[in-house]
Amino acid sequence: MPNYFLENPDLLTTFDRVVRWDEIVPLSEGKDADVADTVSTWREVLSVAGEYIGSEVAKRARLVDELGVIRDNGKVSLSVPLQENIKGLAELGLIGLSFPKEHGGSGLPFTVTAFVIEMLARACASTMIQNGIAYTAPAAMIFRDGTDEQKERYLPALGRGEISGAVAMTEPEAGSDVGNLSTTATQRDGCWFIDGRKQFISAGNGDFVIVLARSASGSKGLDGLSLFVADRVVDGRDNYKVERAEHKFTIRGSPTCSLVFEGTRAMPLGEIGQGWRGITRFMNESRIGVGIQGLGIAQAALVAAQEYAARRVQMDKPIREHPMIAEMLLEMETTVAGLRALIVEAAALQDAVMHGTDDSTAWRLRELTPLVKWYGSEEAVHTCRRALQIFGGYGVVTEYDVERHMRDALITPIYEGTSQIQSLMAVRDLMRSLLRKPQSLLSGGPSTTLARAKFDGDAGRDFATARSTLVWTLRGLTTGLARRGGVSLLRGGRQPSDEELQPFMLNAERITETLAHVHVARALGEQAKRVPERASLFARAARRAKLVAQSNAKEISAGDGGVFTRIAEYERDRTAARK
Ligand SMILES: Cc1cc2nc3c(=O)[nH]c(=O)nc-3n(C[C@H](O)[C@H](O)[C@H](O)COP(=O)(O)OP(=O)(O)OC[C@H]3O[C@@H](n4cnc5c(N)ncnc54)[C@H](O)[C@@H]3O)c2cc1C
Repeated sequence: MPNYFLENPDLLTTFDRVVRWDEIVPLSEGKDADVADTVSTWREVLSVAGEYIGSEVAKRARLVDELGVIRDNGKVSLSVPLQENIKGLAELGLIGLSFPKEHGGSGLPFTVTAFVIEMLARACASTMIQNGIAYTAPAAMIFRDGTDEQKERYLPALGRGEISGAVAMTEPEAGSDVGNLSTTATQRDGCWFIDGRKQFISAGNGDFVIVLARSASGSKGLDGLSLFVADRVVDGRDNYKVERAEHKFTIRGSPTCSLVFEGTRAMPLGEIGQGWRGITRFMNESRIGVGIQGLGIAQAALVAAQEYAARRVQMDKPIREHPMIAEMLLEMETTVAGLRALIVEAAALQDAVMHGTDDSTAWRLRELTPLVKWYGSEEAVHTCRRALQIFGGYGVVTEYDVERHMRDALITPIYEGTSQIQSLMAVRDLMRSLLRKPQSLLSGGPSTTLARAKFDGDAGRDFATARSTLVWTLRGLTTGLARRGGVSLLRGGRQPSDEELQPFMLNAERITETLAHVHVARALGEQAKRVPERASLFARAARRAKLVAQSNAKEISAGDGGVFTRIAEYERDRTAARK
C-alpha cells in the first residue's frame, strides 16, 4: 500500500513548491519561528499520516463500506473497522492536529490539515467525514464560542478521540431553507431546554450534539436562533433520543441520524441570538471540507483509472492508448490538480482569516468558498463517472473500488448546502459586486482576483477568452436586468426584485460552473509562474475554461426554454388547489 503523501507527486509538489509557507508559518507559530524547521516538522507529520492512511485506513475501507452502520437493538454505533481507524488516528495525534495547543492539540494551520483531510477522503470517505464532523467541527465551534469550562470539558477528550459530537441544523421541513427550522430552546429556572426534531445528522449517535434552535419565541427566518450543546446522557438517562440511522448507499459507514429532543437540557454555545452567525462560520468551513472530500475521492478514482487503463489491453493495446480514454485520463488529471490548486488557495485564505486579516482577504475567501464546494462536488462526481467508464464492466463490480468512489462522491453535491445553493450564493455575491461597480463589465469583470490575473502565451490567451466570455455573459444578463428594472438599478438606487433576478437565478449554476473553471485555470496559472512544470496543466485548464465559458454563454443566450411559463403554470395549479 502506498504512502498517500510521499507517493503522490502532485501533493508533494504542492507541499514542497506551491504553498507559501513563509506566509503560513508566522500565523500559527509566531513571526520569530524558523520557517524551514517548522515546515520540515509538518512534512514529517504528513509523511506519518500518509503512511498510516495509505496502509491501514485504505485497507479497511471496503469493510467499512460493506458493514455500514451497526444497529443493535435500537442502538446505533460505528462498525469495528471504522472504530479502529478513529483509534489509530487518535493514537497518532491526527484527530487533534488542528486543535489549539492549550487544549491538547497540535495547533496546525488548516493549510497543513487540508492535506490530511484529502488523504483520508481518498482512503475512506466515511472515515474522513467521521473525523471531520464528530471531532474537528464541534471542537472548532466550541473553541470559537465556548466558555472556558466548555473548552476544558470537551476539547481535550475530543482530541484524544474519547468522546465524539455532532452538529445538528437540518430538520424535516428545514433543509436548504434553514430559516424554516422549528426546534425551540426555552429557558426555565435558569436552564435551557430543547424541543424538536433534527434530521440527517452525521455522527448523531455520539456523546453530545451542537444544536441550532429558535430561542426567541415568535421569531422568524434567521433571526432569534442560538446554538446549544446538549449531552447525550444526563444523570444516567438519555437526554435526547437517537431515533434511527438512515440506510443509504453513500458514505455507508457514517451514521446519519434522526434525533428527537423532548425537554432536552442544553447549555448555550456563544451568545444567545447569535446562532446564525455561528452556524454560518461552521458551514463555510465545512463547505471547504466537502470540497476537499471531493478532491480525495476524485484522486482515488484517478489513480484507480490510471492503473487500470495501463494494464487493460483491448484491440492489441492498453486502453489508455485509445484516444477517447487518453482524453478522459487527461481531463481527470487536470481536474484533480486544478481542484487541489483552488483548495490550497482557499486553505491559505482561511488561515489568514482565522488569524484576523483585512476585509479583502475575507472577501476572497468568501468568493472561493462556494466554488470550492461546487467544483469539488460536481467534478468529483464527473471524475468518478469517468473512472467507472474506464473500468467498463468491472466498474460496476464491488470487487473494485471505483463503484464505492462513485457512490461516495454522490453525497458531496448534497450536504453542507447543495450545488444549487452554492450557485445561488456565488451568483448573489457576484451580483452585489456588479451592481456596486457596473463599469467593471467594461473591463475584467466584477471579480477583482480574476480581473487582475494575467498570463502569457496561448494558455494566457485562452484564459483571457474564458474570462471575457464570462464578462460578456454577465453583461448580457445585466443589460436585460436594466431593461426590465430601469437603469436606476445599476446606479444602486434600489435592490432588484426576485422577478427581475430570475434570469440570473435560472442560470446560476451555469455562471458558477464558468466562474469555477476560470478560477481553477487562474490558480494553476499562478502556480505555473513558480513551478514551470505546471505549464501544461495550466494550458489544459485554460483551454477547458474557455470551452466551458463558451458553451454556457451559448446556453444562457438561447433563452429560458419555457421554464418561466412552466413555473407560472405550477403557481396557477398551486393557487387553484388552495381554493
Ligand atoms: C448523508 C447526509 C449527512 C448529512 N449530515 C448533516 C449534518 O451533520 N448536520 C446537518 O445539520 N445536516 C446534515 N445533512 C443535511 C443536508 O445538509 C441537507 O440534506 C441539505 O442541506 C439539503 O436539504 P434537503 O435534503 O432538505 O433538500 P431540500 O432543501 O429539500 O432540496 C431539494 C432539492 O431542491 C433544491 N433547492 C432547494 N432550494 C432551492 C432554491 N432556492 N433554488 C434552487 N434549488 C433549490 C436543492 O438544491 C435540492 O436539489 C446531511 C444530509 C445527508 C444526506
